[in-house]
Amino acid sequence: MTRWPVQKIRVGALTATVLPLGEISDSLRDWFAPEAQAVPDGVSHLPVNALHVGGPGVSVLIDACDPALYRGEGQATEIGPCLKMAGIDPAGITHVIVTHGHHDHFCGLADPRGEPTFPFARHILSPLDWGDGTLTAEAQRADGKAADPAALEHLFRLGLLDLGDSAPPLPPEISLIDTPGETPGHRVVRIASGGEVLFFLADLFHVRAEIDDPNLCPIWADDTALKASRTRIMAAIRNETARFLCSHIPDLFSTAHRSNAPS
Ligand SMILES: [Zn+2]
Repeated sequence: MTRWPVQKIRVGALTATVLPLGEISDSLRDWFAPEAQAVPDGVSHLPVNALHVGGPGVSVLIDACDPALYRGEGQATEIGPCLKMAGIDPAGITHVIVTHGHHDHFCGLADPRGEPTFPFARHILSPLDWGDGTLTAEAQRADGKAADPAALEHLFRLGLLDLGDSAPPLPPEISLIDTPGETPGHRVVRIASGGEVLFFLADLFHVRAEIDDPNLCPIWADDTALKASRTRIMAAIRNETARFLCSHIPDLFSTAHRSNAPS
């Protein structure tokens, strides 16, 4: 995998496993307006995390980067062996949630020949990021660079991609919340069990500076929509004393510890 460790988080009867399947190395200054002083200079290294949620009758994967496309300094490993090293049977995964139509969140779902990584799973994507058989122009444009939609197109062609009402029901512990802004169809995932709640926020925030200042938005986002989504979700997190994770930030945030939480 990458320089970041696999983390296991208990959520009631469930186990959420953070899988750092990739690594982005980029100048964050290019992601934000020049006046964004809180953004570090130079090249930063960010994880591309997937999250697996497992427990009695539950095996759901959220996002899947291809480690060979977004690799760290170490040797990349295929996604299947990565999961097995973390104690997860890839063949047992019933649903794959794609939080939004950006490449780093779905490129591991099919190989270049079009073979699906999880042939027994239903793959779920918002119809707002999906047009007539491919990613919408808005989802592609929103990334600031062209996303390669090949993996999703293979899944669509094979009938494994579910959009909107056709999506099969998720386990009751897992729900999707529409959070437009990063892309029109961006969604976050709420995981609840035994009175504990964990939110996987995907790219609602990309770097810590955005959590500290929710008005800080990347240049490709729909600012108005993103800020409204952030306000709504952070209120829900505070209400539920929930914990939260983001795709590209290694930390687990807890509203119970104010030093570790946004105000
Ligand atoms: Zn991302």
